[in-house]
Amino acid sequence: MTTTKKVPAYAAQSATSGLAPLSIMRREPSPEDVEIEILFCGICHSDLHSVRNEWSEFMATNYPIVPGHEIVGRVTRVGSAVTKFKAGDVAAVGCMVDSDGTCPQCKAGLEQFCPNMILTFNSPDKHLGGFTYGGYSGGIVVDEHFVLRVPFNLNLAGAAPLLCAGITTYSPMHHWGVTKGKKVGVVGLGGLGHMAVKFAHALGAHVVVFTTSPNKKEDALRLGADEVVVSRNADEMKKHAGSFDFILDAVSADHDINAYINLLGIDGNLTLVGAPAKPLSVPAFGLIARRRSFSGSMIGGIPETQEMLDFCGKHNITADVEVIPIQKVNEAYERLLKSDVKYRFSIDMASLKSE
Ligand code: NAP
Ligand code: ZN
Repeated sequence: MTTTKKVPAYAAQSATSGLAPLSIMRREPSPEDVEIEILFCGICHSDLHSVRNEWSEFMATNYPIVPGHEIVGRVTRVGSAVTKFKAGDVAAVGCMVDSDGTCPQCKAGLEQFCPNMILTFNSPDKHLGGFTYGGYSGGIVVDEHFVLRVPFNLNLAGAAPLLCAGITTYSPMHHWGVTKGKKVGVVGLGGLGHMAVKFAHALGAHVVVFTTSPNKKEDALRLGADEVVVSRNADEMKKHAGSFDFILDAVSADHDINAYINLLGIDGNLTLVGAPAKPLSVPAFGLIARRRSFSGSMIGGIPETQEMLDFCGKHNITADVEVIPIQKVNEAYERLLKSDVKYRFSIDMASLKSE
């Protein structure tokens, strides 16, 4: 029988309950495992979609749910076969905690597409039964393969969001060849969007931000945008028709995707990383007339996540965070829905000790 240890956490008991304290069990580290005391955990909009069961058609939520997949912490113990980490090291965990390790995707370092991939929360837990619990908790035990190294120069509260918002925006930019001289659009200046701006700017692209929030204009420029367009202004949108090489759409809610497809040039690509629950409609002529493509992207593999963290270390890139105690998490969700966060909440897990 697997031995366990109790840790404090915050969980939702239903789609409408909000989050409240709950004690959960973590397994004793096996030889391949790393045990981590969680210091910071970012709040991703996916946490909110999952807590409220908004993706019920594709990925129903199992309750209680402990969300959180932007985890940075300190290693407390390691199993006997662990080679990359020792007690006292800083370590990070993103959206995945396991995969089969043998399929072609795993062999290619694309664990996110493994048919047996296990998400950090709301996936079947093969060790303890039930479902996996995420980072809104005091500690976590994870197979070494899914534990990442954080460059020493990065602020830890700001580094946590790199584990999802960072890799989710870095990966498609590499896949679609964002480099110097390319014209790149970023739609939605939220947690993902603001990381996309930082990466596209660091890669040397000409960056245009599309926002529904006129009050984010100054910030967008400070974050690295060359131009900012308020997307509700049709005239401003028209000026960019047919001109983009690549657009990353990181919007969390239903919106008109064609407005952005029309901005792509010949062979331009629009990649969707935002995951609104409602299907989007795309007219054929928007795509065929200019050989445009419309695609999606999901997080990134473990080797690319480490590459992204090292890139951030080299360029001193972290998320702009508002650090909150866990007790403010329900309020933070309400603010996230109003696009009222600059630009990621990062939970200081020390606050969990006062429960
Ligand atoms: P977020 O911080 O809430 O940012 C979303 C942004 O979308 C907002 O800041 C806002 O930007 C814009 N927006 C919100 N409502 C809108 C509306 N009705 N119309 C137009 N724009 C609107 O969320 P996030 O954490 O960055 O996540 C964004 C999406 O990506 C979520 O759906 C999340 O689940 C998904 N996601 C996907 C992956 C993946 O692997 N593909 C990974 C992580 C997250 P402005 O104020 O600038 O308009
Ligand atoms: Zn996420």
